[in-house]
Amino acid sequence: MAKIETKCTRSGYTPKNGEPRSLPIYQSTTWKYEKSDDMGALFDLEAEGYFYTRLQNPTNDYVAAKLADLEGGVAAMLTSSGQAANFFAIFNICEAGDHFLASANIYGGTYNLFGTTLKKMGIECTFYDQTMSDDELQKLVRPNTKCVFGETITNPTVMVFDIERMAAFAHRNGIPLIMDNTFATPVNCRPFEWGCDIVTHSTTKYIDGHASTVGGAIVDSGNFDWMAHKEKFPGLCTPDESYHGITYATKFGKGAYITKATVQMMRDLGAIQSPQHAFFINIGLESLHVRMERHCANALKIAEFLKNHEQVDWVHYPSLEGDEYNELAKKYLPNGSCGVLCFAVKGGREKSIQFMDSLKLATIATHVADAQTCLLHPASHTHRQLSEEQLIEAGVAPDLIRYSVGLENADDLIADLQQAFETIK
Ligand SMILES: *Cc1c(COP(=O)(O)O)cnc(C)c1O
Repeated sequence: MAKIETKCTRSGYTPKNGEPRSLPIYQSTTWKYEKSDDMGALFDLEAEGYFYTRLQNPTNDYVAAKLADLEGGVAAMLTSSGQAANFFAIFNICEAGDHFLASANIYGGTYNLFGTTLKKMGIECTFYDQTMSDDELQKLVRPNTKCVFGETITNPTVMVFDIERMAAFAHRNGIPLIMDNTFATPVNCRPFEWGCDIVTHSTTKYIDGHASTVGGAIVDSGNFDWMAHKEKFPGLCTPDESYHGITYATKFGKGAYITKATVQMMRDLGAIQSPQHAFFINIGLESLHVRMERHCANALKIAEFLKNHEQVDWVHYPSLEGDEYNELAKKYLPNGSCGVLCFAVKGGREKSIQFMDSLKLATIATHVADAQTCLLHPASHTHRQLSEEQLIEAGVAPDLIRYSVGLENADDLIADLQQAFETIK
């Protein structure tokens, strides 16, 4: 089997003799058919093929196939954003009256989606603390709990998720583990190898890698046995009247989850990726393995610099020896974690903001995980909507700076940090 570097560069689209070598962009909303019945069979899900880009487009499908291969899954789909990916991943198996568990330390946008918007749709989320014991977690499970959600490396607090333990916990309860693998990327961690069932991505981050294209993806391992828990998952295990009574889990087997998300979620809710943007995402994927290595090497250098700096209160970076999450990082992320780290400047919130304003090379941006080093202050930016209490629950200290290390020369970045420390002295 090909190694991850080869998969990043070559999986998905494999041209035949005389075909274009680069992934073609199928810039078409629709497909032509000779006979009415040909298209009828597609609408009935009796034949495979394309008819309308809101449901499927070949460019998108090639990129999804590459992501499925990278994660070691059986099927994948692209979405217009990471938000759409996480929404669909949950909504594909939860409906009004259902409940699920999500780590309290997830990305602020996902926290809002789960805690506020899904609640309005009748789906309740309980946020758990990742340091809880199995017994404590078990107390949060209800008869209507449908899945467990977490991030491989949390944004912005860079905590490493104990995938194997949490997969075992989910499976003891007859429910799948869904993981957002945005920060680690399949280059550094493949959650399916540790028992996770479904992976989501914001491809906007390292996968694109150049801050040019918003996107998301869902990948299914194909390992969760929906029919073994069919009372919990009627959407997959009982007939869908909107498709003449087909049952996804029996008709599509390991492809059931992604098929349902495509033909039901996408059909009804939209949020498709555009073929043009799928093309950009593929360009990002072709060099993902090379970039991740450099992001990680640069971040480790900077984490070490910050750790030893007298004006720094604390720094969190999972690959840093002695970090609270270093043991878990060694297990799940042995080749490196990501380019994101967080730290606080001595003197509290005000000093942290003054420090950020003094940086010249690193830029203040609502972004993370791309070629250019950027930073933000979650308490005043991404997590602005959260109350002081929710901030603490999410583990986001008011003075926390999220610093995303890019692909510049690490010494230049360190010089930039040093001059900012001098400025605020
Ligand atoms: C950015 C991000 C998202 C949301 O993705 P968008 O592409 O911005 O919609 C979800 N999860 C994580 C971990 C993220 O960093």
